[in-house]
Amino acid sequence: MDEHAKIPRDLIDKLFNLGVMGIEVPETLGGAGGRFFHAVLAVEALSAVDPSVGVLVDVQNTLVVNAVARWGATGLKERLLPQLASRSVGAYALSEAGSGSDAFALTTRAVESGDTFRLTGRKLWITNANEADVFIVFATVNPEAGYRGITAFVVERGAAGFSVGKKEDKLGIRASSTCELLLEDCPVPRANVLGEVGKGYKVAIETLNEGRIGIGAQMVGLAQGALDHALAYTRQRKQFGKAIADFQGVQFQLARAATELEAARLLVYNAARMRDAGEPFLTPAAMCKLFAADMAERVSSLAVQLFGGYGYVKDYPVEKLYRDAKIGQIYEGTSNLQLQTIAKQII
Ligand SMILES: Cc1cc2nc3c(=O)[nH]c(=O)nc-3n(C[C@H](O)[C@H](O)[C@H](O)COP(=O)(O)OP(=O)(O)OC[C@H]3O[C@@H](n4cnc5c(N)ncnc54)[C@H](O)[C@@H]3O)c2cc1C
Repeated sequence: MDEHAKIPRDLIDKLFNLGVMGIEVPETLGGAGGRFFHAVLAVEALSAVDPSVGVLVDVQNTLVVNAVARWGATGLKERLLPQLASRSVGAYALSEAGSGSDAFALTTRAVESGDTFRLTGRKLWITNANEADVFIVFATVNPEAGYRGITAFVVERGAAGFSVGKKEDKLGIRASSTCELLLEDCPVPRANVLGEVGKGYKVAIETLNEGRIGIGAQMVGLAQGALDHALAYTRQRKQFGKAIADFQGVQFQLARAATELEAARLLVYNAARMRDAGEPFLTPAAMCKLFAADMAERVSSLAVQLFGGYGYVKDYPVEKLYRDAKIGQIYEGTSNLQLQTIAKQII
């Protein structure tokens, strides 16, 4: 999948059959009726094997299902949630070429005409874009109003004037599709607005706060996968007449990695627990993503190191996990932006 840069559709169907694509969708609408914490556990478990599959499930649950369930009108929820739980992949489109960290500087325009909005613009870096049928697209109804013009729309594949553009060729999470979206006078019915017109910034802020915990979980799973490979290999690889895991220098490196991993996991679980308990979780979410992403980079690097030359080639999965780790410091708010959020809260 990494080499072909693609997640096969039959694997995506298995994820739907497993019930992990609509974890928080109520059972009455065909979902698993779970909580946010369950979504975090699923993302963690999948990411230990493949963080690309982890992020597909993460975006589906923590961003798309979450936004539709919280902000969609009843009719839209009753139509979309069963679809998202059973067959349709979702994507979340906020970033543009000129607006990343400064997300609310977006320029995709929505022009109101009767009961329809017509969207024109380009979105960049959109995860799941190749597989998705349901896209949450942020556009402004009034560029002069700054963030107060931003509105969240559900755009469905097949809409006139909407297409998925170039796919990025990436360092890591290569099987996860990341593409441009093109909108040219694309009509979107008013019924597909999430939340209020001009209040899409709230939808973005709130869903991304939760999404961040999911990325923390992805990084924890990734690091667990890398550590498990390193433990198995160091027990079996012999140098100087014994297993390299018998050297205290190696043991201490593994012990430190396991400790950092556990600390990251507890930060992630605590943020998820606070979210489910209805407590404020802005700072815990930013902290868990910041710490887990750095930890995953360190632990996956150590795994490559402990495999020696074999860690540097594609015969073992650790070089892939090392490449996959880097994205944790970039998407859903870079590490600097997490630090900015934490600093604002504590100072
Ligand atoms: C694989 C991948 C998948 C993605 N998936 C999605 C998706 O599904 N949906 C979506 O909407 N977006 C997605 N993104 C976009 C991602 O969220 C942005 O790339 C990210 O927010 C950073 O924005 P940028 O790339 O424009 O970098 P910039 O904002 O230009 O940042 C460049 C550097 O400057 C630093 N910086 C910027 N501002 C400040 C500041 N005020 N203080 C200190 N440092 C600062 C940043 O930390 C960073 O190191 C994805 C990106 C990638 C690579």
